[in-house]
Amino acid sequence: MLRDILTTDIRGQLILLGTGTSVGVPSIGCPCDVCVSSDPRDKRTRCAALVGLAEGNLLIDTPPDLRQQLLRERVGIVHAVLFTHEHADHIFGLDDLRLFQFYLGHPVPLYCEKPVEQRIRKSFDYAFSQTEPTHTGAAPQLTFQTVGLQPFELLGSLVVPIRLKHGPRFDVLGFRFGNVAYCTDTNGIPPESMARLEGLDVLIIDALRNRPHVTHFSLDEAIEVARQLQPKRTIFTHMSHDLGHARTNAMLPAGMELGYDGQRIPLT
Ligand SMILES: [Zn+2]
Ligand SMILES: [Zn+2]
Ligand SMILES: [Zn+2]
Repeated sequence: MLRDILTTDIRGQLILLGTGTSVGVPSIGCPCDVCVSSDPRDKRTRCAALVGLAEGNLLIDTPPDLRQQLLRERVGIVHAVLFTHEHADHIFGLDDLRLFQFYLGHPVPLYCEKPVEQRIRKSFDYAFSQTEPTHTGAAPQLTFQTVGLQPFELLGSLVVPIRLKHGPRFDVLGFRFGNVAYCTDTNGIPPESMARLEGLDVLIIDALRNRPHVTHFSLDEAIEVARQLQPKRTIFTHMSHDLGHARTNAMLPAGMELGYDGQRIPLT
C-alpha cells in the first residue's frame, strides 16, 4: 500500500452507483419534465453497483460516470470488477480503474465472460499493448478471470451468476449475493435462472420505461417478473426519462420501488 486511502467502509451493503439508461437522465437536450426535474432522484447516471463483500469492494461494471460515482459515495478503492456485459454504457469508464493498481499493489482483477474480455481488449487496446508505456500509470493494468454459470468465491463471498437474455440474440449475466440479486439489462429470464432467483430478500431488476423495448423489460414486464419471484423487496434500475421517480413510485405495488443513484441496500 503506497499511502493512506480515503474511503468509506461499505461492507454488508450494495450501493446503486447509477440507475440510468445508456444516455443517462437527464438526457442531453431533453426538455421533458423528468429531465428538468429538481428531484435529485431524477438524476440518473449510467448503471453500476458496488458490493461491500467480506474481503473488499466489488464493482459491477465500469460505466462512463464511474469517477463521479465513486467520488460521490466516498469510496476510494475497488478490489475487483465483475461485468454484466460489454455494452458501452457498462464498460467505457474502465480507464478510471488506473488508480487502483497502485492502491492494490497489483493489476485490477476483472471477472467476466469471454465476449466481454474480447470487447475490452479491443476498446482499450492501449492497456494490453506490448510497447513500453510513456510512464507508469499511463494505462490500466488488468487481469482477466473468465466466469461462467458456475457459482464462485470472490472477496470472501459466494457469487452466483444468473444467465439473462438482453434481447433475442444477446446473453448477459446477473449476479446473486446471498439473498440479494442484481439483474440489469434484460428482458428475458430463462426457467433455470428463475430457479436461481427464488427466496430473495431483494431483487434489483431492469425496468426501462412504460412501453415495451426489444432488449429491456418495461415497467409492467418487470413487475410481472417480481410477482412471479415474490422477493420481499423489488428495486427497479436502468430507467429512462419516461419514469419520473416520485410519480412512478406512487403507483407501484407494495414492496416495489424505483431505485436511485446512491441508494444503499443491505446484503442479507
Ligand atoms: Zn445498459
Ligand atoms: Zn427527458
Ligand atoms: Zn446493455
